[in-house]
Amino acid sequence: MKGLNLLGSTGSIGVQSLDVARTCGFRVESLAAGSDVAALEAQIREFRPAYAALFNEEAAADLKVRVADTSTRVLAGADGVAFCGAGADGDVTLNAIVGIAGLRPTLEAIGAGKTIALANKESLVTGGRLVTEAAARRRVKILPVDSEHSAIFQCLLASPPNRALKRLILTASGGPFFGKTRRDLENVTLSDALKHPSWSMGQKITIDSATMFNKGLEIIEAYWLFDVAEEQIDVVVHRESIVHSLIEFTDNSVLAQLGHPDMRLPIQFALTYPERRPSPEKQLDLGEVGKLTFFPPDNEAFPCMEICRAALREGGLMPAAVNCANEEANLLFRQGKIRFIDIPDFIRRASSSIENKADYTPDDVFAVDALMRRRVRELVKE
Ligand code: NAD
Ligand code: MG
Repeated sequence: MKGLNLLGSTGSIGVQSLDVARTCGFRVESLAAGSDVAALEAQIREFRPAYAALFNEEAAADLKVRVADTSTRVLAGADGVAFCGAGADGDVTLNAIVGIAGLRPTLEAIGAGKTIALANKESLVTGGRLVTEAAARRRVKILPVDSEHSAIFQCLLASPPNRALKRLILTASGGPFFGKTRRDLENVTLSDALKHPSWSMGQKITIDSATMFNKGLEIIEAYWLFDVAEEQIDVVVHRESIVHSLIEFTDNSVLAQLGHPDMRLPIQFALTYPERRPSPEKQLDLGEVGKLTFFPPDNEAFPCMEICRAALREGGLMPAAVNCANEEANLLFRQGKIRFIDIPDFIRRASSSIENKADYTPDDVFAVDALMRRRVRELVKE
């Protein structure tokens, strides 16, 4: 890789991507984020990118003044963010924006012929057909950063010439509420939901892990990345987050990828692919780990995964609808406006109101986004 464009640079994945850039000595061509002026200023001073952008226009104006002494050009708004992914010189664009806000930058970076290192699973979930068709047309590679998908991608490198793939098996940590019943979940709080057992991540995905909606998003993400049917994607709960996912061949042989739960490993592999480089990642000592445990998912207490599966089977705009309804419900839960247990219900009710179509455009997806956010807020008031 010659240079990196990094979108979402101030978040959990963004900061860890810069750790990787530092260890591997990658040149950073652009940095973009939402509104965190101080964090982006510090990153600009260390990495000296040609371009930086903040989605929030006021914050961008502030940043521009603060870094006026550097050679970095500061851009603003959705256009500025998209330019950092598509117009800057990096040959790889790592998209670590959270939510559907990542869709347009993904599409524009593909349009500009950039290799995509994708952490922003929501772009594949909401615009799967648009993203994969554009990538095929431009012969652009989409390299997964999500740990499960990186694991599957790594396992698939050992595929025979006839592929002979039977099943993908995604592992799920089960989140902080593993083993709880629906009734137990009635009174859980935000701080309970933010206590993830194995990963330290941004708040939105941490809540999605607690509801298991995250695993539903990952089923849809795997569907688009690996060209398999929905029925070929299974999920197993694995508490220790050491086995990052598995693949099964037609002869029932199973391959897995293992490592400590540290996102810098899948980030680095996406950025050095097809090569591997040494990493500061802790070596895996299975004797020290001792025990790996596996359980079937509990779809009754955690219905979100099945909501996503149903949306994937229905196709068209339905995955976008459930994703966007979830983004709003997830936010309202974090704001203390709805209960944890109500999240799946709001998603189901809001998404049932869309007019679906198979052949959608980016504008159709953004219209569904606006509709779902409005619908969920209306349902809360009812
Ligand atoms: P985060 O909330 O920590 O960071 C999000 C970043 O996106 C921040 O830099 C924020 O400023 C930026 N951002 C938000 N809205 C923006 C906008 N409109 N334009 C530009 N930038 C914007 O989130 P995260 O945990 O780093 O997750 C990022 C993505 O990676 C998500 O899609 C998540 O599902 C995925 N992911 C995260 C992890 C993890 O370990 N954190 C693991 C796998 C996948
Ligand atoms: Mg994941």
